[in-house]
Amino acid sequence: MLQERKAELARNFKNRNIEVFFFNTIKDVKKRIMELISNDSTVGIGNSQTLKEMKISGTLNDRGNIVFDKTLAKSKEEIKKLKKKALLADWYITGTNAVSVDGHIVNIDHSGNRVAAMIYGPEKVIIVVGKNKICETLEDAVERARNISAPLNAKRAGYNPPCIEMKKCVDCKTKERVCFNLVIIEGQCEKGRIQLFVVNEEAGF
Ligand code: SF4
Repeated sequence: MLQERKAELARNFKNRNIEVFFFNTIKDVKKRIMELISNDSTVGIGNSQTLKEMKISGTLNDRGNIVFDKTLAKSKEEIKKLKKKALLADWYITGTNAVSVDGHIVNIDHSGNRVAAMIYGPEKVIIVVGKNKICETLEDAVERARNISAPLNAKRAGYNPPCIEMKKCVDCKTKERVCFNLVIIEGQCEKGRIQLFVVNEEAGF
């Protein structure tokens, strides 16, 4: 779907003050991120399978950037600190759960630190999304985030809510629930703050 809808997707996001850039591979995305972010910038990283596969935290760190990535923390206390520090970073890089051609970015979060940083705090935000997460409408994107991303993320994080077995969200109220925030980004008031990097590969879930 991506190839035929590229122009429409870019136009719809532009109308919402979000610039879209297209890439062929995750490798190309990483190269561009490394070019954009200066060595002396601080960078917050959202928990994302795509970014993990990209190994972006390690590469930035090796180059001298100060990186706030909670997945590298060694204790619960450190996780808490890194999540807060990421909110004030110069840059924030993250994946997302679904994007609609009509211009919505849909996320389901556990504690909400990722969506908080996407919405407000870091000066610049890069959101990386694979072609598998591009949906036609907002409704489709919400459906994807709830029924595909959330169960797989729950599994990855070691939780065991009923959606893992049922392969769809049942709006559980169990202690294993992983989604407490369903957030739709409909645009940006600050032009140029959010850049959406769409990659023509399957990336994350
Ligand atoms: S609300 Fe419960 S069932 Fe639904 S996706 Fe979240 S964890 Fe799974």
